[in-house]
Amino acid sequence: MNVEADGLFGAPPITVVVGEEVHPSLLKALGLLGLGRNRVVKVPLDSQGRMRPEAIPFVTSPALVCTQVGNVNTGACDPVGDICERTRTSGVWVHVDGAFGLWAAASPSLAYLTDGVEQADSWATDAHKWLNVPYDSNTARLRESEA
Ligand SMILES: *Cc1c(COP(=O)(O)O)cnc(C)c1O
Repeated sequence: MNVEADGLFGAPPITVVVGEEVHPSLLKALGLLGLGRNRVVKVPLDSQGRMRPEAIPFVTSPALVCTQVGNVNTGACDPVGDICERTRTSGVWVHVDGAFGLWAAASPSLAYLTDGVEQADSWATDAHKWLNVPYDSNTARLRESEA
């Protein structure tokens, strides 16, 4: 399908899975992309505010699981490695919203909070939070350059 030429008409619906405390900007982005802010499946969290991998419903491709590392209010980091293992066989794309917490990977005492993030398909992070640079300094990375 050539989205630029033909638009999204006729495209298969994409299931989007998020945690119950998804950052509002992620929902905004889904709306801008045409994936729909309200069409998400919300996964319940554990007592620490992390997405519960076993509570993710069985979804098949095309699907996108948006994990969060971490929650800007609580610091909670989803267990991305466990989530990747649970969804890998079904060909689901796993994204890490690491706007706030992905920088923990650079800290020897906090890196355990990001265990498994290397198994994801894409990562976004902000430099304007922990790195304290001007607003709107963001990066996005994809595992496959073609994507
Ligand atoms: C801050 C934050 C965002 C939004 O990023 P901005 O670039 O500041 O708009 C998204 N997700 C999480 C988890 C955040 O903490």
